[in-house]
Amino acid sequence: MAQLFFKYGSMNSGKSIEILKVAHNYEEQNKPVLLFTSAIDDRDAIGYVSSRIGLRREAIPIFEDTDIYSIVKNHEPKPYCVLVDECQFLSKGSILQLVKIVDELNVPVMGFGLKNDFRNELFEGSRWMLIYADKIEEMKTICWFCERKATMNLRVIDGKPVYTGEQILIGGNDTYFPVCRKCHANPPLPQP
Ligand SMILES: [Zn+2]
Repeated sequence: MAQLFFKYGSMNSGKSIEILKVAHNYEEQNKPVLLFTSAIDDRDAIGYVSSRIGLRREAIPIFEDTDIYSIVKNHEPKPYCVLVDECQFLSKGSILQLVKIVDELNVPVMGFGLKNDFRNELFEGSRWMLIYADKIEEMKTICWFCERKATMNLRVIDGKPVYTGEQILIGGNDTYFPVCRKCHANPPLPQP
């Protein structure tokens, strides 16, 4: 039976590189996969899975009204696996389509994303992935400032931590750091 996987991690925990690796491993065995990503993430261009180490490849962008289920259902040949990057930005409706792909088409779906935003609130897409996924796995990385595990994302604007504001603000002059709980509350940022 196919399953719905949710692999979450903070910024820089290697989610995109993991997707590219999984896709590569399937394709090496002549098993086609389908790659999707949220259309909201336009760090370089819409419709790419990009990793910080420079690897990137095209992916089908998911807009609010994208019929993910039909794309997978009508794809020839039938994919062995569906990979979805930036799941945190997806709507409940999109996540329910991923569920339907697993349950009705019997195709495994692996979704990747951030769990909590810089305010420490759940992203909408992640909330529904946590509820619906069969298997949930944490992708670990180290805090930017200390030795603890990073479980949160710190937003910094002009050298100062920010804890309020819009959840999604891509392309601003803000920077995000993977941090532990302690450094999130009290980040040891250099004094300007
Ligand atoms: Zn820390």
